[in-house]
This record gives sequence, structure tokens and C-alpha cells, in this order.
Amino acid sequence: MSQAPHAMQSSRAESGESGVLYVVATPIGNLDDMSTRALDILRSVDVIAAEDTRHSGRLMAHFDIRTPMLALHDHNERSRAEQLLSRIAQGERIALISDAGTPLISDPGYRLVAQLRSADLRVVPVPGPCALIAALSGAGVATDRFRFEGFLPARSSARKNALEALAKETATLVFYESPHRITDSLADIAATLGERRLVLARELTKRFETFLEGSAEALLEIMAQDPNQARGEFVVIVEGAPAQAEQAGSVDPEQLLAAMLDAEVGIKQIAAVATRLLGGRKQQWYERAQQLKDARG
Ligand code: SAM
Repeated sequence: MSQAPHAMQSSRAESGESGVLYVVATPIGNLDDMSTRALDILRSVDVIAAEDTRHSGRLMAHFDIRTPMLALHDHNERSRAEQLLSRIAQGERIALISDAGTPLISDPGYRLVAQLRSADLRVVPVPGPCALIAALSGAGVATDRFRFEGFLPARSSARKNALEALAKETATLVFYESPHRITDSLADIAATLGERRLVLARELTKRFETFLEGSAEALLEIMAQDPNQARGEFVVIVEGAPAQAEQAGSVDPEQLLAAMLDAEVGIKQIAAVATRLLGGRKQQWYERAQQLKDARG
């Protein structure tokens, strides 16, 4: 009998499979988010490839999962992928997990999955917690289009460049951030993206889960007054650039600045208008407008 397209399937059916990699999401804080399907699979596979076996050992102990584990992290993924591929080709069932959340999302596993797919071997996602999706689902920002950028660069100059390249993006922007860099990143967001609404999702699914909303400057102010707000794990959501910026691709920035100079608009106002229409930093437009004005004599 053929299955209806929407038919549900019980995970128990999966233990009869062979030669497969399950990409299994695990909790990002609240252990009750572990799905029964994930548990069944982790208990029944031949081996679990984990980003950090000691870290995941605690999860395994909590759920009394006794499946053997091996390490697969950024530094050994190439060589491990070969071994895992040949084990799966021989019929083994293997699960891939990361320290928390969905593997491959700012976590290792992409090379392994790509190699298995090119070898025509089966890869089965077992969906579940993911900080990016949890944050978006609770933030109340536009989610019809979003651009996930993972972690911003660690160095401020590279981070500013990365942010400037995103200044005209009209889709919601989403970043992961660590407590060590959250204030520096917020400061760079304020400097490069201008006045935008942000939502900071902190410690999702954990005891101190917090959603803070406001401009980057306002969020920095809150953190200055309550340093606890700068602790823990963060997803940073930034509303997209105003829609006019999309059409601004056809506006020649030099022509726009020149037209405003012709109309005797002040340099400060020119910088404000250019930032709003073209994105980027106000200072950058201020300097460029000043140069043009000086060149006119
Ligand atoms: N694969 C994971 C996922 O599916 O979300 C992400 C792994 S990435 C190495 C870790 C980053 O995810 C953290 O630095 C933080 O930005 C974000 N993150 C993970 N857990 C979180 C949580 N409970 N609350 C907020 N952000 C979290």
C-alpha cells in the first residue's frame, strides 16, 4: 500500500535500516528538548561521532545511552570522514552529534555529509534544537527572509568590514556570539549599521533565558548597568536595512552627494541621508561629502 504524502512515521522503523548517517540535533540547554526519535537513534546506532566525546559523555550519561563514541571535530574531520564513510558503506549505522544543537550549523560535519552524499550513501537529518531557529521563533522580528552569518570575525577591523558588507541587506540578519565578544560586536554593529532594532536572545532554553530588544547602543547601556546581561550564549538578531536601500543599488553615491551639495544641504545632513539610503557608516559619508565640497573650492 502506498503511503499518503503526509503520513507520519515512527522512529522505531529506522532501527531496521543499514548503511546510514543520522545527523542528530541535541539540546541547547534544556535536556527535555531531546526528542524520543533522537534517543532511539542514539541508543541503537553502532557508533556516535561527537564533536567532543567528554562533553557529550554527560548527555549520554543523563539519558543512559551506552553506545560507543568517537571524536569528529574541525581538526580531524577530513581523516575521520574517510573512516566513517567506509564503515557506513559496509552497512553500519552511525549518528553525528555536536556539543549542542544541530550539527553543521556553525558546527563540524559538513565535509562528512558532502562526502557521503557524493558517494550516494544515506544521510538522514534528525531535527531538533537550533539556537538560530529558537531565537527567531521568539524574537518577533521579520522571519520571511533572514540571513544567518554564523560568528562574526574575532578581530574588530575584519568584523567591521564584514558588517559593512551587510549594511544594505534588507533581510533580517542573525549572528552567533560569545560572551567574550558580545559588547565589542554590539559596538561595531552600532558603528557600521546605524540605527537599527536588535533582539538579543541569551541563554535560550536555560534558567536565565532573556530576550532584550533595542538599538545596539541601548543594549550596551543595559549591559553596562547589569553585567549579568553580557554573560552566557547569544544569538544577535538585527532588523534588515530599510527597503529603500535595495533600490539604492541604482543610485550613484557620488551623484547623490553632489546633488545634495548643489542644493546646499549641510554636510551632517548629507551624511545622515546617505547612510539611510546607501547603508554604511555615517562617518564615511561625512568624510566623502566634505572631500567633494573641498574639491569644489
Ligand atoms: N549547532 C548549534 C545550533 O544548532 O545552534 C550552534 C553551535 S555554535 C558553535 C554555538 C553558538 O550558538 C553559541 O556561541 C551561541 O551563539 C549559540 N547558542 C548555542 N546555544 C545557545 C543558547 N542556549 N542560547 C543562545 N545562543 C546559543
